Amino acid sequence: MIVAVASGKGGTGKTTVAASLSWVWKRPVFAVDLDVEEPNLHLFLKPRFTGRRTATLEVPLADEARCSHCGACAELCQFKAITVLGTVRLTFPEMCHGCGGCLAVCPEGALAPGRRELGEVLWGRVRGEIGLCMGQLRVGEALSPPLMRAVIAQARELALRDGADLVIDAPPGTSCPAIQAVSPADLIVLVTEPTPFGFHDFRLAHEAFLPLGKPMAVVVNRADLGEEDIHGYCRRLNLPVLAEIPHDRRIARAYAQGTVVAAELPERKDLFDRLATEILGHGDVPRPLPEVPSHA
Ligand code: SF4
Ligand code: SF4
Repeated sequence: MIVAVASGKGGTGKTTVAASLSWVWKRPVFAVDLDVEEPNLHLFLKPRFTGRRTATLEVPLADEARCSHCGACAELCQFKAITVLGTVRLTFPEMCHGCGGCLAVCPEGALAPGRRELGEVLWGRVRGEIGLCMGQLRVGEALSPPLMRAVIAQARELALRDGADLVIDAPPGTSCPAIQAVSPADLIVLVTEPTPFGFHDFRLAHEAFLPLGKPMAVVVNRADLGEEDIHGYCRRLNLPVLAEIPHDRRIARAYAQGTVVAAELPERKDLFDRLATEILGHGDVPRPLPEVPSHA
């Protein structure tokens, strides 16, 4: 099973939930941090890293001697990563998305595959039991989805060996990386809080993920703060609320100290145990309604 823990905005408790969920998971599990721009799941789970590799993207390398400056590559590249101006051809590897199209259309064979470093994929184990896989985007690298793909591929390969499930900590928001992070999931767990900002961004995330047609469920963090009607919204849209985490200074302190709430606060462990049980029974989680009603 692959479960993605996501949120419409940062700071809602998504990583707190992902870390505790991995901690109490009742089957072999790999925690996967797909927030490759700012990974922090490892700061809570504190794995012993056992492997790492550099992830790269295939970018074109030009052979000046062969280039006839026909312009076919520039015409094809929708990312403007190659430009031909008269007898000058310029390549911008940092703008390349690695589609390989220019190499395929070059009539002179003047482009060969080169490599751009994206960052690192790292993996290890927590307490010898929980696997962890994460990515760390290279400083200055703007394109995170290819590294995310490398992380999820590595996690799948490792999990397959152990027969493990994946708990993905997705990047916050509704942009391309967030959508990509939840795409492999069997269930998306949206973490939100009943504040105006939290509710607003939760609805955006829900709407953004709806076209994927994945089952979704909700965890309300700091549930006794704010007055937004998250439950009413969820009822109308067939979104089960699987857990409510109360506003508790000890949880905030555990987070600030970089510890796992389910491990640090035994009295809160039950909550995550129940959440894990609910998620593992996700067959009962209804599909989201296909459209967001205007009154929602
Ligand atoms: S397609 Fe090949 S030959 Fe034509 S401009 Fe590009 S690199 Fe040069
Ligand atoms: S590989 Fe694709 S994205 Fe990169 S320069 Fe060639 S056509 Fe553009």
